[in-house]
Amino acid sequence: MNPLEFFDSRDIKFYRKGEVGGECINSPYHALTTCPICGGVRLWLGYHMANGNFTCMVHGVADKRDLFRHWFPEEDIDQLMLTINWPQDKSIAKSKITQRTSSVLKLPVGIVPLLDSEPHCQYLRGRNLIPERLAHEYKVQAIISGSLADRHLFPVLNLDGKPVTWTTRSIIGAEPKYKAARLEESVVSVKNVLFGEHLCRYDKPIILVEGIFDALRVNTATSTFGYCAASFGTHLTKQQVLKLAEYPRRIVCFDSEPTAQEDATELGRQLAHYGGVTEIVQLDSEDPGSASTTEITRLLKYAGHM
Ligand SMILES: [Zn+2]
Repeated sequence: MNPLEFFDSRDIKFYRKGEVGGECINSPYHALTTCPICGGVRLWLGYHMANGNFTCMVHGVADKRDLFRHWFPEEDIDQLMLTINWPQDKSIAKSKITQRTSSVLKLPVGIVPLLDSEPHCQYLRGRNLIPERLAHEYKVQAIISGSLADRHLFPVLNLDGKPVTWTTRSIIGAEPKYKAARLEESVVSVKNVLFGEHLCRYDKPIILVEGIFDALRVNTATSTFGYCAASFGTHLTKQQVLKLAEYPRRIVCFDSEPTAQEDATELGRQLAHYGGVTEIVQLDSEDPGSASTTEITRLLKYAGHM
């Protein structure tokens, strides 16, 4: 069976050029659908009819088997693969297959529920955060043994709320402060995601900050949710910029130091290609993570969230 006929028969809708919903497609060889790995409703996953390759605009080249694992039960995959006649022309693909991420997320050892570890909870309270909320809304966990002991585990969730990668943060001042999953432990590279994006909404302005603790503080300092996500630093990848571009209004709130502010201006320039509005704001505090409740309230009011 032809791949697109197969997907039709399985109710996986691929949009093609000239179809309602496929207006953004220029090439007769391309079909687009939602990416089961990144989640959400945007048509990020492209299928190329000439070479049989799948590429996600956000997370990159996608291995067929990885995609099938997200669409179908594991025990059916071998049989399904055989029913499809994939195109034989691999010439375009060869140099592009550099897939090194994993099809299953590999978590570190020694994880316990956050609320079971008092030192981890204490650390968060010391940073003006509420452990109960972080455990519930962000699935934050505690690592108590192994090579990543005395660190928090911060899963990064896709738009459907499924973890695709993770990072950790030491609670005892160990270096490096943050230690992220390696590419081969991740389903999507940590450089291609925004932390906290699973709780953001396209119809709400997004507040973009540098770090996890900035995002957590903005989102939980008041009873109003901040629709704030973090880019893991001030240098965004193309994939992160594309994700941000999906929000019609973006408020960039990086740390107050001059280089971070320069990077914010540069990000504004990059986002200008995609339409929508980018605003750059600066707090009186060093960073959003250490901002007072009054200051965060002011930021949320500016964004129109309260
Ligand atoms: Zn994807």
